[in-house]
Amino acid sequence: MKMPFLTTSFEVRDRHALNSLRLLGESPANLELVTGQSWFQDGMDDVDAAFLSVLYDLSIRSTAEFTAMVQTRYDKTTSFTLPLAGEAEIIAFRPTPFPRTSAALSQAESAVRAMEELMGVPFPRNEIILLFLNPMDFQGSGVITLALHVGTHMVVSRPEVIQGDFDHTLAHEIAHYYWSSRNAPLWFREGGADFLSSYALAQSDQVSLTQRRHVLDIGGARRCAITGIDYIQRLIDDLAAQGYSKYTSSLSFLCNYALGEFLLLELYQAMGFEGSSTAWNELYRLSESEGREVTEVEIRQAFLSHASTDQLDEVLRLYQRWHRGDFSQ
Ligand SMILES: [Zn+2]
Repeated sequence: MKMPFLTTSFEVRDRHALNSLRLLGESPANLELVTGQSWFQDGMDDVDAAFLSVLYDLSIRSTAEFTAMVQTRYDKTTSFTLPLAGEAEIIAFRPTPFPRTSAALSQAESAVRAMEELMGVPFPRNEIILLFLNPMDFQGSGVITLALHVGTHMVVSRPEVIQGDFDHTLAHEIAHYYWSSRNAPLWFREGGADFLSSYALAQSDQVSLTQRRHVLDIGGARRCAITGIDYIQRLIDDLAAQGYSKYTSSLSFLCNYALGEFLLLELYQAMGFEGSSTAWNELYRLSESEGREVTEVEIRQAFLSHASTDQLDEVLRLYQRWHRGDFSQ
């Protein structure tokens, strides 16, 4: 499906592409490199516009990756129809050829499908853009970025260089199309992205939720418990005391992922698909209609109110075990 840039319709990607082009103008050398390419001069199609839309962000992350990508770009697109969102496509870019056996796009598609089914609301974007790069030193901080959701697209380390958990990492970033800093507290968006990712992998028969729970039990959650951090309210308090930018480098930051996922995974196992899906759906729709973060009270209430009578004690026990917030008033 080739649609000329801007001529027939003005899509989200075109807005992002124009914005990226405008910002690239901050560096005449970068702008010249882009506008000198034949794909730019020959008139842009859909894929070119998607590519242009990610370039400014890439240029400020890494000049080397930016230059390599502009000079030798490989792309791969997969189009499919989602039960709720309808037509969708995943467009991926790499500075080196895609390995012939690369399953990244079909894995991304399976994750999108599984998450849309659980959330029960249309996947929020019809175009998912993936950038496969070498791990990057993130803004000179010495932190090597494996994957990042940057609003317009995702930046993911090439599958060949992530050991083991590439599928989980990729699905985690996909989940951020639903849950991000705009609509959920830290433990819920990161633990939630990890849970949705685990859910999606279980749906495609890669790792069952029982196996995943075991990994969390002997891995992330135990490491947090050893440092004395074993419940979510503690994470909320630490974040409030330190402020976000300091907190990201603190010991307990990663516990938001492990403890958040543990609670949400066990809630899913206790409530089953129906009740759990309804709770996720309700929370997302609430955040959308109010245009704000869902609160701790709302998150807990969503799960409690969709637990059946015989599940309620267990749901309360899990909340008390993993969260321990004071919900008495
Ligand atoms: Zn994340």
